[in-house]
Amino acid sequence: MSGEAEARLWLDRIRALPPGPPVAIMNVCGGHERSLSMLGLRALLPEGVRIIPGPGCPVCVCPEEDLADAIALAMAGGVTLVAFGDMLRVPINAPKGEVASLAAARAAGADVRPIAAPQDAVAIARAAPSRPVVFFVAGFETTTAPVAAMLAEGVPDNLSVLLAARLTWPAVAMLLAEEDNALDALVAPGHVATVMGAEEWRFVAERHALPVAVAGFSAESLLAAIYSVLRQKREGRAFLDNCYPELVRPEGNPTARRLLDEVMEVTDAAWRGIGVIPRSGFALRGDWRAHDARARHVIAAPPRRRAGEMPPGCDCASVVLGRRQPDQCRLYGRACTPRHPVGPCMVSDEGACHIWWQAGVRA
Ligand code: SF4
Repeated sequence: MSGEAEARLWLDRIRALPPGPPVAIMNVCGGHERSLSMLGLRALLPEGVRIIPGPGCPVCVCPEEDLADAIALAMAGGVTLVAFGDMLRVPINAPKGEVASLAAARAAGADVRPIAAPQDAVAIARAAPSRPVVFFVAGFETTTAPVAAMLAEGVPDNLSVLLAARLTWPAVAMLLAEEDNALDALVAPGHVATVMGAEEWRFVAERHALPVAVAGFSAESLLAAIYSVLRQKREGRAFLDNCYPELVRPEGNPTARRLLDEVMEVTDAAWRGIGVIPRSGFALRGDWRAHDARARHVIAAPPRRRAGEMPPGCDCASVVLGRRQPDQCRLYGRACTPRHPVGPCMVSDEGACHIWWQAGVRA
């Protein structure tokens, strides 16, 4: 059966479910949000079924302090700062005239380079062994595991890592622990589950009695997951369903998990605009700390006046937590567009504001 035919089948099944009260389903993956928005899947669902974008954008929640440190390192000179492309345009709250993004630092003459993969950082470091190279890493488990593998394989001595990596599930756990949360079900992130395993999401059903289904990125996989959680809801059941079995195993990728465990430890971590979420971040452990950029370099970032906050007027923190839709921000499409982004959710390819704008949603 073709993907399109399979998608149509799942949609028919969704529409054949008995009607019920409104249902709010959260997704926590920028890739899911992109597929849902670009394929127009929301408009095909029955009335009363809402799909809410949640914490699926690591760039959006990268703490301003870490970004300010990366900018300060780059501006101090003497190092090459590399980062994944969309991180370069994320703005911090800086006084007028101060460099407010890595892209601005680059324009001001700092050696800042976008990369697409950890191997690019290694290649840059190998090409100039006497020059310190700092790899600024903001990402979820899918980004962090390859960085752990990179370090475990052995990297040039001149390469260090400025880590702002986060785990996905603790943010969802925090949201579900709130008494007034209005979520009825979760579509769990297939990409993250490929690394960490579907079992990581069982707590949603067992601790919170909410339906949960792991989905891939195709229309058919997403619609299968939506059907699963809707059916569970209508039948008064809650269990973990893996709708991406072709790639996701219950235990995930054992090699990637082992490397993560070997190289990194889990720590409490700040999320921009949200605050500290227990055990939601990574730090280098043991001998790997020798590659921690903070241990190697004196970082003199000016103290942030509004540390941890989003830019004034930006509702990105509420958007990340699913409390507001992108088009409910008063800056959406007015002061804030992909060409002139105010907040990180409009910068990153995984940010809900950016995706909704690209999908044609206008305020
Ligand atoms: Fe922030 Fe812009 Fe999104 Fe508003 S539209 S929440 S300002 S990123």
